[in-house]
Amino acid sequence: MRRWIGILLVVMLLGGCTVREQTAQETVFAMDTVMDLRLWGEDAKKAIPFMKEEITALENTWSATKQDSLVGRLNTGGAVLPQDAHSFLQRAEELWTRTNGAFDPRLGGYIRAWGFYNEEYRVPTETELQQAPAQWDLGGIVKGYAGDRLTEILDTLDIDRAILNLGGNVQTYGEKPDGSLWNIAIQNPVGGEAIGTVSVRGTAAVVTSGDYQRFFEVDGVRYHHIIDPKTGYPAESGLSSVTVICRNGLTADALSTALYVMGLEAGAEFWRQSDDFEAVFILQSGEIYATEGAGLSGCEYEVIFREK
Ligand code: AMP
Ligand code: MG
Repeated sequence: MRRWIGILLVVMLLGGCTVREQTAQETVFAMDTVMDLRLWGEDAKKAIPFMKEEITALENTWSATKQDSLVGRLNTGGAVLPQDAHSFLQRAEELWTRTNGAFDPRLGGYIRAWGFYNEEYRVPTETELQQAPAQWDLGGIVKGYAGDRLTEILDTLDIDRAILNLGGNVQTYGEKPDGSLWNIAIQNPVGGEAIGTVSVRGTAAVVTSGDYQRFFEVDGVRYHHIIDPKTGYPAESGLSSVTVICRNGLTADALSTALYVMGLEAGAEFWRQSDDFEAVFILQSGEIYATEGAGLSGCEYEVIFREK
């Protein structure tokens, strides 16, 4: 009898497995980072090659280091823009205007001068920075944009939910079956355990920009990759990282970079004048501030309220 119950249980379990839930997981190295794609739903496995193809296409188009990429060709004397590339650059320009220049998609000349493209890091002279040409660099938004494009692919397939970690940019998709929220860990800029988690419902982007993500040191000074467009030097805003939570990945990515440049006070004010994102600021001192809708838990922090 016990054996029959055992067999019955196995049959039930196997039967259960064939109902909808099919999962897929894939690790991809692209855009200079490790990406982790996790999907649930009937078409989970089918979706992976489409997603990889899209990531590769975006990288080949928008990489600032590939000579034959669209960006490379734009920077060295013109290229014919396909329609989707045109609207992407237009979005980049809108975010430049919206952030009053803190997000600047044309600071490639600075990034090159600091050696971030070929990893031959050096501190440029004042004159070199003043003479650095305006060149497209979409590195501040391409992963966020990739998150949006990948969710568009998921929309065309039978996918229940997904979580895509695009190297510091997390994109969630759909609701969990038990109705619980997605919990996204926020990295401690000085290493060790995560400082806490933000919880989001449904499809959202959680994007972090931080001085620990790419940097080099000369004579004990750290030079990181988030540049203040006003000076050409790495932004010194007193922040270690900014996380932005937003329904749109591209916007989240541009704003995380821009808020890092702005710093806490100007960033909080910028948030008060906006209605499409929430943010978590980690200061170099270790203090944490989060806007009132950020859904941050697991750590102590000051809340930034809409009304001062
Ligand atoms: P993120 O990690 O999204 O903050 O983007 C950083 C990357 O964006 C850098 O590696 C540069 O390629 C580019 N970048 C740096 N500073 C800025 C800025 N102020 N505005 C726009 N892009 C930037
Ligand atoms: Mg960004």
